[in-house]
Amino acid sequence: MESSLVKDNPLLLPLNKEKTIYDGFITVQVTHHKNDSPKLHCSWQLKHLLRGYEHIVKQVNSTQYTHNALSLSLQEVGLKSRPDCSSIPPPQYYSQLISEMETLGWDKLLSIDTEFRTLRLKAQDSSGRQHILTIKLKSKHPAEAPECSADLPVPLAITWTPQSTLEQLHNQFLLVLDSLTDFWDVLDEIDCKTWILEPEKPSRSDTMRRITIGNNVSIKVEVDPRHPKMLPECCLLGAEHVVTPLRNKLNANMHMWNPDSSVLHNLRDVLEIEFPSPATHEKSAFSIECGICYSYRLEAAIPDQVCNDLRCGQPFHQACLYEWLRALPSSRQSFSIVFGECPYCSKPITVKMSAQKS
Ligand SMILES: [Zn+2]
Ligand SMILES: [Zn+2]
Repeated sequence: MESSLVKDNPLLLPLNKEKTIYDGFITVQVTHHKNDSPKLHCSWQLKHLLRGYEHIVKQVNSTQYTHNALSLSLQEVGLKSRPDCSSIPPPQYYSQLISEMETLGWDKLLSIDTEFRTLRLKAQDSSGRQHILTIKLKSKHPAEAPECSADLPVPLAITWTPQSTLEQLHNQFLLVLDSLTDFWDVLDEIDCKTWILEPEKPSRSDTMRRITIGNNVSIKVEVDPRHPKMLPECCLLGAEHVVTPLRNKLNANMHMWNPDSSVLHNLRDVLEIEFPSPATHEKSAFSIECGICYSYRLEAAIPDQVCNDLRCGQPFHQACLYEWLRALPSSRQSFSIVFGECPYCSKPITVKMSAQKS
């Protein structure tokens, strides 16, 4: 049986020594008449084994979905569905999936893997942003809940019952997206009107932004996805003589924070500054390289240590400055802090031992 299977179907390859699992392709002839069954071109033994799956091929065909999906489905139907392989879903799995996709709309399908197990569905939120919902179906679908994931700042909680469908799942996802619209609006405004130092390419799940205020001065804000318009957690970074007055303004004006206004607007009012933006400045003006290694990025780090001397203000990577000061005989260390002199202006400078070096 095994040998004739391979002989009659040269595009099938056994996947195990026992020759009980095969992978490969079989040919299907599809006519353009909806009522004609597609013809499987393979040996009668294989046809026999595939009985029960044939109508799925027909079902796919009748949806007039692209040939691509058809061939994917066949790959799955024909080749992985050996009767002795218990992890393979029964024929109903595929019929169920196809009819659920039919109800949801094939246009929502971004991709599907060749196993027909992992689907990526498209979804658009009310502000027109595109999102992707990744669904991993269980072989007992829909009796068992699928695994869902998406690029979100909050855990994706999905309610599933054995009667649930992909369409209901998609609708639940849209509701989750709508609950996060304010959060993304807040961050989109920051991303488009300021220079972001970190993260370099923010994803939809990133809640932190490090915004440029000026040369070697920035503010790190942590926006709460559940309360995006409230005063976020803020941390000012840069030389003390620049950061201290900003910190004082932040503390003094905090009460003016207006949740009806955007975060960017509030930050401007509270700090009494204008943020440099792509409209007014080049980003290169703020990506000043480290004074020790002469590069901007060291692994993932950007130069975030600054000489506090008013005329110097040279930025350094924490790791570079730490290594530099430790090598100097004149510097001294107290707990995790190294005291020494700025390599540029020789004024006192300190650096904390970086976490990864401890
Ligand atoms: Zn460096
Ligand atoms: Zn200096």
